[in-house]
Amino acid sequence: MWSRVDEFYAQRLVGDDEGLSEALRANAAAGLPPIDVTPALGKLLHLLARSVGARRILEVGTLGGYSTIWLARALPADGEVVTCEVSPRHADVARANLDRAGVGARVRIVLGPALETLPDLQGPFDMVFVDADKVSNAEYLDHAIRLSRPGALVIVDNVVRGGRVVDDADDDPAVVGTRRLADALAADPRISATMVQTVAAKGYDGFVLGVVEG
Ligand code: SAM
Repeated sequence: MWSRVDEFYAQRLVGDDEGLSEALRANAAAGLPPIDVTPALGKLLHLLARSVGARRILEVGTLGGYSTIWLARALPADGEVVTCEVSPRHADVARANLDRAGVGARVRIVLGPALETLPDLQGPFDMVFVDADKVSNAEYLDHAIRLSRPGALVIVDNVVRGGRVVDDADDDPAVVGTRRLADALAADPRISATMVQTVAAKGYDGFVLGVVEG
């Protein structure tokens, strides 16, 4: 049912888009895992970026660039997405996908472990999308806030993990990382955040949405 509802709205509100569907085909052909955001979440990211008039967006976790295409399409011609990716193979696939989708000139891929590359980036960014390894989400949040302008949006994906986040006995590193993120958000006066639970083709999950305080 969740998948059918996703499909129903994707057909009406997302539609056919060659750049995006070609990117998913190329990802599958290259053997990348199908862990991109759903079309509905991709479009939400796009609309959020437009609604804050984003000119510079930071992404942590590129994969094949599916979410990056959505974000880049929200930018003016002189805007920029900086996207951090640890895997050279994912970055290569993403570069081809971004160029094919016509947004390559607006995207800089920063290769390497994000914990090592984020300290060298220059802000300010108008929006940050965090979607890489979940273990380091609390550290990514800290960098996201440091690199953001007041009023910037910070979105962190996969913060529900099928409900495992509330199972204290679950010591999976991604779940522990997600709980650390929640505690970091609760303790940090530099950001005001909420959480949205989602059910979709990719299961039961959710994302955090925060605004960086002035
Ligand atoms: N945002 C992408 C999308 O929706 O199309 C999906 C990103 S996927 C969930 C996570 C990506 O983060 C993978 O490509 C993975 O290689 C990358 N990643 C994992 N650990 C990382 C790290 N320490 N630094 C940077 N990227 C990392």
